[in-house]
Amino acid sequence: MQHEPLPDLNNTQIAFARFSNAELRASYWLFRLMGQPWLVEWGSRLAQWSIRIGLPVQWAIRKTVYQQFCGGETIDGCDAAVEQLAQGGVGTILDYSVEGVEDHAAFDACAEEIIKTIQKARGDERIPFAVFKISGVAPVGLLERVGALPAAHKNELPEWDLVQLRVRRIVQAAADADQAILVDAEESWIQDAIDSLVHDLVLEFNRVKPLVYQTVQLYRHDRLAYLKSTYVQMRMAGCYFAVKLVRGAYMEKERERAVARNYPSPIQPDKAATDRDFDEAVCFCLDHIEHMALCCGSHNEESNLKMINRMRALDIAPGDTRIWSAQLKGMSDHISFNLAHAGYRVAKYLPYGPVSAVLPYLVRRARENTSIAGQMSRELALLAAERQRRKSGR
Ligand SMILES: Cc1cc2nc3c(=O)[nH]c(=O)nc-3n(C[C@H](O)[C@H](O)[C@H](O)COP(=O)(O)OP(=O)(O)OC[C@H]3O[C@@H](n4cnc5c(N)ncnc54)[C@H](O)[C@@H]3O)c2cc1C
Repeated sequence: MQHEPLPDLNNTQIAFARFSNAELRASYWLFRLMGQPWLVEWGSRLAQWSIRIGLPVQWAIRKTVYQQFCGGETIDGCDAAVEQLAQGGVGTILDYSVEGVEDHAAFDACAEEIIKTIQKARGDERIPFAVFKISGVAPVGLLERVGALPAAHKNELPEWDLVQLRVRRIVQAAADADQAILVDAEESWIQDAIDSLVHDLVLEFNRVKPLVYQTVQLYRHDRLAYLKSTYVQMRMAGCYFAVKLVRGAYMEKERERAVARNYPSPIQPDKAATDRDFDEAVCFCLDHIEHMALCCGSHNEESNLKMINRMRALDIAPGDTRIWSAQLKGMSDHISFNLAHAGYRVAKYLPYGPVSAVLPYLVRRARENTSIAGQMSRELALLAAERQRRKSGR
């Protein structure tokens, strides 16, 4: 079969079509500033301190990093951002990004908010997935304790019932709304508890179609084998195995903890090993897509293009509803919009919440954009290229 050339991810006209010149300039300057590690470090500390003591800095944050990486302070406040993404053929994943929740009343409130995102998405093709983090609805200490217990003893912890009920309520709401839902992956010491919760849900809710997506982090050296063995388990149980594949976001924390507590690090020896397993995992999912569904959560151009190459080799149509590429709002628009333009399914996480509550998320995004080799210069170079293209009228 003859295929079109691979999508050109460097097409900045498509990537930034929905940006006005003023918006483009603002993003360009923001990424330039975020390229300065000292500024990001001091700026982050100053912002956190100012908010803690009640200084009125929220407007400055709202106009800069918040605007770049978030959708709005409430679900309805994200309407304009949802529509803007939809104009470029890109779906939205409403991500309630509030962190640091610590008691059961707050966990219940967080669960209710997640259910509202599911209801918002109901029947709206612009919002293909809901998402949540288990640590937003369960105490981290409990997850850690449950993860360390043999399966038969988990239910002996009284609080665990409460967590299972809360998580089940969220997923039942997704099932009622016929809305696919992603469960994020977190630190390895709470991930066993998360995986066990998610497996129970998959066994219950993924019988007819892929509804609940488990996240697998390929920066862990054991996860490719885990992906393959879980697939076999799910097949034997007659369920669809839906996965979001990511490289993983907690590498430094994982390595530091392993050294501090003297156990072998769960992380791959180097980036090449993570890349190899990630790409192999994507291929595994595509090869078994009849009984799987895949959301490839990555800003890596090569991995996205490899996914497309494999889809082509397997004669899978670009618009196949079982296969998605996903990025974060404010990052890698060149991947999102160029893939969407070429007919592939693409969605972006759209974090939302009050400025003070999403600040830790914003600080992580700013730090990530200074520290990942190549990533910063890539975003900046693309924004600069588009500004240049518009100036020259090409
Ligand atoms: C839509 C979406 C959803 C996400 N959901 C989650 C989630 O649920 N859980 C989660 O943990 N993360 C999540 N992430 C973040 C993700 O795990 C990565 O941190 C981030 O996307 C960067 O990886 P990359 O594939 O985009 O690109 P790249 O820039 O190619 O890869 C960077 C990643 O490679 C790995 N890496 C870097 N250096 C090394 C090294 N020396 N040795 C081994 N590995 C290395 C790290 O994982 C690092 O983050 C999500 C990302 C996206 C886009």
